[in-house]
Amino acid sequence: MSRHDPAAEAVVDLDAYAHNLSVLGEAARGARMMAVLKADAYGHGLVECARTARANSVSWLGVTTIAEALELREVADEGRILCWLYPPGADFASAVEHDIDLAASSAAQLGEIVAAAAGRRARVHLKVDTGMSRNGALGADWSHLVTAAATAQRKGAIEVVGVWSHLACADEPTHPSVAAQEQVFREAVVELASAGIEPELRHLANSAATLTRPSAHFDLVRVGIASYGLTPAPNVASSSEYGLRPAMTLRARLAHVKRVPAGSGVSYGHTHVTSADTTLGLVPVGYGDGVLRALSNRASVWCAGDRRPIVGRVCMDQFMIDLGDTEIEVGEPVTLFGAGAEGDPTAQDWADAADTISYEVVTRIGGRIERRHLGARA
Ligand SMILES: *Cc1c(COP(=O)(O)O)cnc(C)c1O
Repeated sequence: MSRHDPAAEAVVDLDAYAHNLSVLGEAARGARMMAVLKADAYGHGLVECARTARANSVSWLGVTTIAEALELREVADEGRILCWLYPPGADFASAVEHDIDLAASSAAQLGEIVAAAAGRRARVHLKVDTGMSRNGALGADWSHLVTAAATAQRKGAIEVVGVWSHLACADEPTHPSVAAQEQVFREAVVELASAGIEPELRHLANSAATLTRPSAHFDLVRVGIASYGLTPAPNVASSSEYGLRPAMTLRARLAHVKRVPAGSGVSYGHTHVTSADTTLGLVPVGYGDGVLRALSNRASVWCAGDRRPIVGRVCMDQFMIDLGDTEIEVGEPVTLFGAGAEGDPTAQDWADAADTISYEVVTRIGGRIERRHLGARA
């Protein structure tokens, strides 16, 4: 571990990240690719993942906020960047000044972007709500956005670079909403064309649609979770079945080990009571670091060559594991989750145990956990 000998570290294998990007690039052959790097690259490190993506010929980076996009410009990323979510009054002026592409979800938002651009030509991706009912312009609002964009483009105030939308159920490929959203998207593209706008990029697919639905690839696919090596559709196929390698491994070392007698209540609330004399190990990471409290008594970790169950409640800074009668000493390495190659649990295993998705497991890893990057670009 590092010089500071942290209680725990998240090790991110950038070679695995690059490998996953190439698997996805192969799946999306013919389309360009956007590496989605929001929320600190799903906890994997914004700058390191951005550099790896660019070194692997990824032409687009996608983030949520203008602040994330500006952070990429600060580290000298000069490629195309799209960001897509902001409150009114966001710093559109800086975004346009730094040549960052902006999503527009309403005519009002487009107006704000044009006003902030102060004479520069803003690069805009028009977002249509095709059935997710989240961001994007719906129905008549889409028609208003199209009209406003056509006028602004004619005046030279904007360049419409893209038309795009987002799928609600791509992780369930047979869900009827997927085909329905794709159809609404095609109609939105036609409406835009009849207003005289034929943007360079039409984009709809996330990781799941990239891997399961070629008809949704259009000109660009936006890949997030699968690029980090986690399956976007756990009910369809596992990450290894997709040829993906989980990039993040969360590691710690046992801070305390002790024998306890049968009948010992463990951790807050005594939700676990030992059924026999056993050895308990203390892992110095808790829900304050992103180890979900819902994993109490439900998940396991990898320690000394075997899966070891989490026993009792996960606390803010620590949790206990049952080591049975194995002789293990303080300082023994623990893999909380990782690539799964040696039998260690994966972030997907933890997600299943906590009744959530792997996205939440990796993005929750908190600020006390040190990040260490491995691989060619580290
Ligand atoms: C997060 C996000 C993606 C990537 O989704 P994954 O399921 O992680 O591939 C794509 N598009 C938008 C708009 C997003 O917010």
